[in-house]
Amino acid sequence: MGAFLGKPKREKEFESGEGNGLRYGLCAMQGWRVEMEDAHCVKIGLSKALANNSFFAVFDGHAGDFVSKYSSEHLINIILNLWYSESENLGVDSLNGDVLKIDAALEDPEILEKFKQKVIEGFLKIDTDMKSLPVYTEKGIRSGTTAVATFLTPKKVIFANCGDSRALLCSKNTIKFATSDHKPYNEEERKRIENAGGSVMIQRVNGTLAVSRALGDFDYKNSPQLPATAQLVSAKPEVDIIERSEDDQYLLLACDGIWDVMSNEEIVEYITSRLLVHSDLKVIVEELLETCLAKGSRDNMSAILITFPNAPKLCQEAVEKEAVLDARIKEEIEKIVKVHGQDTKLNMVCDTLREFNLPDLPACGGIQAKMLLIERTLDILVPERHEETTDNTSSGGFNLPGIVRQLAQERELSYQRRAAGGAIRDEFDDEDNRFELFSDDDDDDDDKDVTPP
Ligand code: MN
Repeated sequence: MGAFLGKPKREKEFESGEGNGLRYGLCAMQGWRVEMEDAHCVKIGLSKALANNSFFAVFDGHAGDFVSKYSSEHLINIILNLWYSESENLGVDSLNGDVLKIDAALEDPEILEKFKQKVIEGFLKIDTDMKSLPVYTEKGIRSGTTAVATFLTPKKVIFANCGDSRALLCSKNTIKFATSDHKPYNEEERKRIENAGGSVMIQRVNGTLAVSRALGDFDYKNSPQLPATAQLVSAKPEVDIIERSEDDQYLLLACDGIWDVMSNEEIVEYITSRLLVHSDLKVIVEELLETCLAKGSRDNMSAILITFPNAPKLCQEAVEKEAVLDARIKEEIEKIVKVHGQDTKLNMVCDTLREFNLPDLPACGGIQAKMLLIERTLDILVPERHEETTDNTSSGGFNLPGIVRQLAQERELSYQRRAAGGAIRDEFDDEDNRFELFSDDDDDDDDKDVTPP
């Protein structure tokens, strides 16, 4: 197929920082995909006047990284420039004005509504901008990207979502708000697609594109008689404004490589438990990505964890419990290595550890949440070991046969749970169904295929 690597590419990009009462950690990893098409943007303090405001965004590109990269570099500035001129008209200088005055102005529902409109305009404008670039006018841009973005004012979280990446706000250990994915089979999306002369087949726009809103994807935005927001694929984001409260704990923005294998509820349990044992947010996000990889995610993965002052704090008891668990895992691995020596395989170790039903494994992470530790321990004990990689139809040395079987069952269960909850996701068609149905298309490596409609 050429769609997947023989083993996942696990080199990671990290970023972390703090400001405006927030801390953030970011991690991105290519994983099984042949290309890395995700991008991201973090900005703490947006202008002199918007110093108390921050922006975070994740972009999940498909059919190339042009649109995701371009959007990560320009979307925020396009929105801000629109807002600067608008706010000037409103008598609130968001570029150079007084910080506290601007903060207060952004509490005014009417002004906030105007800001919301500029966010929407910004998403639509970046599409128009890209279409006038030489790279488009000369060669055409076939790639597209989802975008999930959050603006944090001192009092609000403004979510802007376009596509099926997702942002989630956790407060009091529960989900306070999560964005909804734009899937072609959602009622509103289907209506727009059909009105634009398209159809939804195998849960995709015209049977090919698995997401119904995106930046780029110009092959799906060609009807000259229709406005941008009525095309087969729309760049219009859904914008939600949520009041911040003292109870807010954290925000997570991530692409579908994460959400494919963990539900919103699982993520909240998992992240909440990890905040008790790690103070370094980068480490938490790295472990999240590795856990998702071990749970069977085959996609690029990017996530940003942003904590508020009231996020769960390091807990001595939890740290000690975790240390006991880690020591036990290392001890068991040593025993296995004593017996099998150089022939010890990651595979064998994981299957054995799984049988122990170790207590206190990370919530919703299972033994997969310890894959990084297991592998690092093995790297020290058996540095020369040879892990087999496989062709891309099976799982390779890292995603282990025993574990994979169990994972398939677990994913099936979680799929059924989600389906029962009303949200039917097409996580299983991503590779298999499409390859079956489009078996002759070997130029493409993405579940968000862009064959012209
Ligand atoms: Mn993806």
